[in-house]
Amino acid sequence: MTEETIFTKIINGDIPSDTIYEDEHCICIRDIAPQAPTHLLVIPRKPIPKLADMTPEDKPLLGHLMLTIGNIAQQVGVGDAFRVVINNGANAGQTVFHLHFHILAGHPFSEGLV
Ligand code: AMP
Repeated sequence: MTEETIFTKIINGDIPSDTIYEDEHCICIRDIAPQAPTHLLVIPRKPIPKLADMTPEDKPLLGHLMLTIGNIAQQVGVGDAFRVVINNGANAGQTVFHLHFHILAGHPFSEGLV
C-alpha cells in the first residue's frame, strides 16, 4: 500500500491545518511555509499523486478545482491578482505527492514565470 501523504492525513483530520474551505471534492488550507502574503493550497480529496496522473475520468474534478480556486481567491480578497502553481514531479519542485494547487497572492508579480 502507498504510504499516506501529509495531505491525506490533513484531509482525514489526523493532523491539524488552517483550513479555510472544504467541500465534498477538495479542501483549501493555508500553506505552512508561505511564499507570498497569501499562500493557499487547494487539494482534491482524491489522492492523485500529481497532475500527470490525472485520467479522463478526473475531468469533472479538474473543472471543479479550477472553479473553486477562482471562488476562493474572490472570497479571500485576492481575486484580481493571483497566481496558480502546480509543481509536477520532484524535478519541478514537488515535495508532497498528493496533487495540489498553490494560490499565491499579495505581492507584485513579474511578467515572467521563472
Ligand atoms: P510542493 O513543493 O508543490 O509539493 O508543495 C508542498 C507545499 O506543502 C509546500 O509549499 C509546503 O510548505 C506545504 N506543506 C507541507 N506540509 C504542510 C502542512 N502540514 N500544512 C500546510 N502546508 C504544508
